[in-house]
Amino acid sequence: MAFMQEIETKLQKGISVSTNEEIYFALLDLVKEKAAGKVSNEGKKKLYYISAEFLIGKLLSNNLINLGMYDEVKEVLAKNGKDLAEIEEIEMEPSLGNGGLGRLAACFLDSIATLGLNGDGVGLNYHYGLFHQVFENRRQKETPDPWITDKSWLNYTETSYPIQFGGFTVQSRLYDIDVVGYNNRTTKLHLFDIESVDESIVGETIDFNKEEIEKNLTLFLYPDDSDDKGRLLRVYQQYFMVSNGARLILDEAVAKGSNLHDLADYAAIQINDTHPSMVIPELIRLLQERGILMDEAIEIVSKVCAYTNHTILAEALEKWPIYFLEKAVPQLMPIIRELDNRIRGKVSDESTYIIKDGLVHMAHMDIHYGYSINGVAYLHTEILKNSELNNFYQLYPEKFNNKTNGITFRRWFMECNPELSAMVTELIGEGWKTDAAELEKLGNFVNDDKVLEKLLTVKSEKKTELKEYLKHTQNMEIDDNSIFDIQVKRLHEYKRQQMNALYIIHKYFEIKAGKKPERPITAFFGAKAAPAYTIAKDIIHLLLCLQEVINNDPEVSPYLKVFMVENYNVTLAEKLIPACDISEQISLASKEASGTSNMKFMLNGAVTLGTKDGANVEIAELVGEDNIYSFGEDSETVIARYERGDYCAKDYYDEDEDIKKAVDFIVSDELKAVGNAECLERLYYELLNKDWFMTFPDFKEYVAAKDRIYADYEDRKAWARKMLVNISKAGFFSSDRTIDQYNKEIWHLC
Ligand SMILES: *Cc1c(COP(=O)(O)O)cnc(C)c1O
Repeated sequence: MAFMQEIETKLQKGISVSTNEEIYFALLDLVKEKAAGKVSNEGKKKLYYISAEFLIGKLLSNNLINLGMYDEVKEVLAKNGKDLAEIEEIEMEPSLGNGGLGRLAACFLDSIATLGLNGDGVGLNYHYGLFHQVFENRRQKETPDPWITDKSWLNYTETSYPIQFGGFTVQSRLYDIDVVGYNNRTTKLHLFDIESVDESIVGETIDFNKEEIEKNLTLFLYPDDSDDKGRLLRVYQQYFMVSNGARLILDEAVAKGSNLHDLADYAAIQINDTHPSMVIPELIRLLQERGILMDEAIEIVSKVCAYTNHTILAEALEKWPIYFLEKAVPQLMPIIRELDNRIRGKVSDESTYIIKDGLVHMAHMDIHYGYSINGVAYLHTEILKNSELNNFYQLYPEKFNNKTNGITFRRWFMECNPELSAMVTELIGEGWKTDAAELEKLGNFVNDDKVLEKLLTVKSEKKTELKEYLKHTQNMEIDDNSIFDIQVKRLHEYKRQQMNALYIIHKYFEIKAGKKPERPITAFFGAKAAPAYTIAKDIIHLLLCLQEVINNDPEVSPYLKVFMVENYNVTLAEKLIPACDISEQISLASKEASGTSNMKFMLNGAVTLGTKDGANVEIAELVGEDNIYSFGEDSETVIARYERGDYCAKDYYDEDEDIKKAVDFIVSDELKAVGNAECLERLYYELLNKDWFMTFPDFKEYVAAKDRIYADYEDRKAWARKMLVNISKAGFFSSDRTIDQYNKEIWHLC
């Protein structure tokens, strides 16, 4: 009961007579003190992971676990009639990220701290995050998502820089969050803000004056980029992030004895996607300011910067108009022109030039002037090398490498699934917590009936927990005896939530026709759509309309229900993933760079239903074909289709009765009675006339795979064996493994 005294000292009264809110803030204080008392990672060379997003999730439980205090604190609270889970509800989740890319950055910080590496994160302190999603009339509405309270995980620092833009200067302020490693040391997440930020320019919605940069710069992540003002604001944000980051890096290197000529011995910078790309010209500029000549400055920076590519979607590779940069950051343009001229002087392949048609290609700058380019899963890196970035691969084959993504098992197993973690520890000991490969030892139990049964029991408990949580928070009526079939991730056409929706319609018709599934099915969705992405919002609307129609149809709802959770975020992911039976990973092959929720689900004993895309390919290889349900055209077939440009959605619609029926239902009277005709019709025509992400060619196989997986679920022992194999093979997807590879092959910190 060591912590009882400490908590009560903070409270200045007994735990049992304190409110949950008082206890939360007392614990926040206590944890911050303990974290500050831990040894920081040190060393000559430091890694700076620069990212526009860090989707860190709530920190109380995570930090308690990593500090080794979780069990004891929970017990102390329970003895005083308090529930840690309820106290956690007080904490606001910072929405400093969109999805996978930002969550990856958060997992990486956890692993960097845990492995004892000298590395910090650098990003921005968005006051209202991305946005908070609410459903109104079955449509997504975006509202601000404030998370910064008077007392929070942020620590004020003395670090502050004047950052100059075209025509004005802002003063920055650095706030730090301590990142606590598991049983180890701490590192920092550096979040830069402006002193002049003004929250009051935002009302009920996420609209605000996008031109008042001195007030709005750090209010939102990725403000609506459907117009030029929003896009220009992104440029201001990106420059602000990297200029602060670059100054911090130079100051820290100099403080440790660098003469700047030897900067590469003191710093490695990982550029997470193209958002921080301006760090390259900015560092060159700052080195010149400090007396280093252009030639050498370029050489230094090229030994410091490494780039991670996260996408092959052409529209997601940033290209900024020159006039944006001339307006926001005129001091960078001469440097960018010089960088481009040097390439033009020695490379004949014009497709690789940095400046083309009045646009600055950020990724091209990263590849020419970074020393490493990595993809995030085996298949993704192969596609980069062989098609998407083949022109660059011809120039620099030695720069290309793969780092298959990973997840931190502390948050995505120990924290979100203590029951399953305890079971694993009982079977194979504690070693897996620091060496995830040890999970393989679970393979010894594939024929142990008691273990298999226990596995099913734990899953069933987690399903009941989710049912109760969603009843209490979102007023949903869920049957915990049904199959939990879950697709949660950002809403994007390439991820193909629309294909899952078509399946649900198909199933609805089958049930109506008297073909009832052996066991009820619950289809869960969770997804935010970018505010300006119309079709994505139409897909959300379709899902919410299906939820309304199907769940209220007495003929169908005993066998099939649909739930779209509101405001999907890390907190909800931690509840949904441990309860999942079937993990939907159905992106169009070649489009999902890696995926990481596929890894979280597998680790928690879900079975994957997926295309041969991203890290699904590696999952399939590890677990073997008996333990995954793969379907759909492979990436080569898809890439060839795009090259030929001859895909015609209408042909499939005309020739396949099932597809026609499902698609037509989108504009049926039943759906229009609960939905918005304009949205439903727009989506209908989009599928019929375009279907850019080719749901129809995969539909038949998708239906067959779903029917097979639902049938196989009924052999409970065989299913439990699949679960066990998936858990036992998940070790490879620990971000500790990923970070170890980044360090050994890119950063060379020690
Ligand atoms: C892991 C995670 C993601 C990434 O999901 P993918 O299916 O890999 O795209 C997105 N959002 C949250 C909240 C997550 O935890």
